Amino acid sequence: MKSSKALRSEITSDLLKLLQHSSFFENSCKIILEKLCSFSGSNVACIAVINESKGDITSYEYAAGIDKLFEYHNAIEEARSLYSTIAEQSNRTGMAYYDSKTVSEGCIEDFKKIGYKGCIISAVKIEGRTSAYIIIASNEDNCEWSDNTIGAVQDFGKIIAGLWQNQSSQDELHQTLKTFRTVLDNIDTCVFVCEKKSGLIIYSNRRFSDLCGENVISRTPSDILGDDFLPDCDDATAELKGFEYYHDNTKQWFDVTFATISWTDGSTVLLTTLYDISDKVEYEKAIERQALFDQLTGLPNRRKLERDFSELVKIRKDREGSWYVISIDLDDFKNLNDTRGHHHGDAHLKRVADFLREFRDRGCDVYRIGGDEFVVITAPDTQDRINAVLKELSDGFNREWQVDANSYYLTASMGITEITCGEDAAYSEVMKQVDMAVFQAKKLGKNNAVKYHSDIGENIYRHIEIKRSMISDVRNNFRNFEVRYQPIINSDTEKIEGCEALLRWKCDKFGPISPGEFIPVAESNGLINQIGEFVLKSAALQCRKWIDMGHSLRVNVNLSIEQLNQPDFPEKVREIINDTAVPSGNLMLEVTESMAINDMNRMKDILNEFYSYGIHIALDDFGTGYSSLNCLKEMPLNTIKIDKTFIDDIVENPSTIKFLRTIVSLSHDLNMTVCAEGVEHREQFDLLKGLNIDVIQGFYFGRPISSKEFEKKFLEKA
Ligand code: C2E
Ligand code: CA
Ligand code: CA
Repeated sequence: MKSSKALRSEITSDLLKLLQHSSFFENSCKIILEKLCSFSGSNVACIAVINESKGDITSYEYAAGIDKLFEYHNAIEEARSLYSTIAEQSNRTGMAYYDSKTVSEGCIEDFKKIGYKGCIISAVKIEGRTSAYIIIASNEDNCEWSDNTIGAVQDFGKIIAGLWQNQSSQDELHQTLKTFRTVLDNIDTCVFVCEKKSGLIIYSNRRFSDLCGENVISRTPSDILGDDFLPDCDDATAELKGFEYYHDNTKQWFDVTFATISWTDGSTVLLTTLYDISDKVEYEKAIERQALFDQLTGLPNRRKLERDFSELVKIRKDREGSWYVISIDLDDFKNLNDTRGHHHGDAHLKRVADFLREFRDRGCDVYRIGGDEFVVITAPDTQDRINAVLKELSDGFNREWQVDANSYYLTASMGITEITCGEDAAYSEVMKQVDMAVFQAKKLGKNNAVKYHSDIGENIYRHIEIKRSMISDVRNNFRNFEVRYQPIINSDTEKIEGCEALLRWKCDKFGPISPGEFIPVAESNGLINQIGEFVLKSAALQCRKWIDMGHSLRVNVNLSIEQLNQPDFPEKVREIINDTAVPSGNLMLEVTESMAINDMNRMKDILNEFYSYGIHIALDDFGTGYSSLNCLKEMPLNTIKIDKTFIDDIVENPSTIKFLRTIVSLSHDLNMTVCAEGVEHREQFDLLKGLNIDVIQGFYFGRPISSKEFEKKFLEKA
């Protein structure tokens, strides 16, 4: 017989070998227990598993010899209570018993009941906690266990603990993998794993297989997703950053990311994920469309032009010849908008866009860069062909437009600049040039095309500076603006009847500028509305003040067409009358014939509204515009003001006298008074008086002067 020490080491090494095959946990345990029985000369060995929450034993497993010794049910029950008691007594740390030594009385009784003479109990500790006991029992009368035997049992307890831990961690791994796969199969992201060496797919989740609609395992990603996907999973791809991938079949966009990970078998693999970003891409595209394209006409906008421009310069560097940038600004579009409504204005812009779009067939790029501003860029071409494009463009605007059921003329002013291929043209400079050329075209009476040259620059510079400094002055509470008053004299009595409010402005840059120059600038950028309101309010306040001083003068205020076009203008006028408490009869608004030319009916409505407030109305500059006598009959006018040009030649020209006589009699028939403007000499005054002209205005009686001077000169004497 082998020594117990030799036996112990033999069994131990057997068991350690078994440990290598830890997957056979169950078998291993049985073998261990059997070996323990034979080694210790016991009849029974088992593992009693402790119930964590209750602290008692829930089962004993992998028993050897048990079926021989215990009557199945009862025996198990008895053993259970026995082990519980032992567990309690040993405070769950494990303890060895043999025969009757060190065993409590109660325990011996229990042992006797089931016919055992002794046992060894050793704790199985996992992570410091007693999770089970190894129990060995014998029914031999004289069973005596040596320290060596007890030590062996304790060793085996440790081995079993190792086995156990190994097994449970294997279970865990298995479980984790299973969970991992379930999770991956249920997420919306495509996941696949490639072997690093071969580049072949070794794992794919359900979403990826669904996307590709075929078996993907053992194929390469580029085989499945196309060549523009990562070519091969070699080492270089480990460095791959993510990219966006378009899957043609499903029309989906994916955000692709890579990660080098270690796979379950320990090998290094490339994990690829494809996250569906189609919604995001769609959204971004919509945003881009919105940012770079005009909603109304669908044409690319100014921002797109700015982007494209530098591209064009680059692309055309090595081409022959030159190309043109043509800025097109519709003439009087604002009028169309104001008189026929925005709806119609929009329809017109769409028509213009459609017309310009046709030039794309000729290699042109077309943009809408502002309300009524378009840009056409020609392709580099021969001068003849470019001229043909220009002619066609201007012919296109020189015809009747058919929009909805309407037909009318609406011309455009064009500014053109030429860029030679190879020239390093800057966007801002080119745009400045075409703007200046457009401005020049407008000045030439609209419906014109002007090609930029350096002389244009000077004029435009002044315009731009005037505009800039006017905006700043208006914002600064009408700094540098002043309303002056020119007297209007009764021709009979030669006494003062009223005055005309005339605006003055001193530009920071160029000094005093005549209203003839700055009013059109204010009109061209909408500032005239604020400025006109300022004049009206100042004049009304001044008038009220003079009335309070005992001088019931009438104050005339000039209106601009832009003001009349504001839908709420009548309301604003009424507010000013209320706020300043000026009697409406002391206010006279001056309009010109040309204002009525576009929309006589609308003009009539507005003037009738003023008329109904009791405000007086004068027709200014009579005889200069499209003189329509119809206007005199149709409009609610109190006064007509004969333009200075007639007064200028009244002394030399008898036919002017005849003309004036007719006008005076006609006006008086229609209950209107007549005013002569620009009277500079006594001779003129006498003639006009003889013609029965009611009131006179001109330098002969006084220039426009400040309210203080006016008071001093005309009111204090009166
Ligand atoms: P307007 O309404 O025809 O004003 C009369 C212009 O003739 C004034 O020029 C006035 O100074 C000038 N004038 C008056 N009597 C004589 C004269 O005997 N000889 C000469 N040579 N000129 C005379 P002003 O102030 O330079 O204004 C020019 C135009 O600017 C005005 O013509 C009017 O159309 C416009 N304007 C002036 N102030 C305003 C304003 O507050 N609002 C608007 N919308 N237009 C204004
Ligand atoms: Ca006037
Ligand atoms: Ca006038």
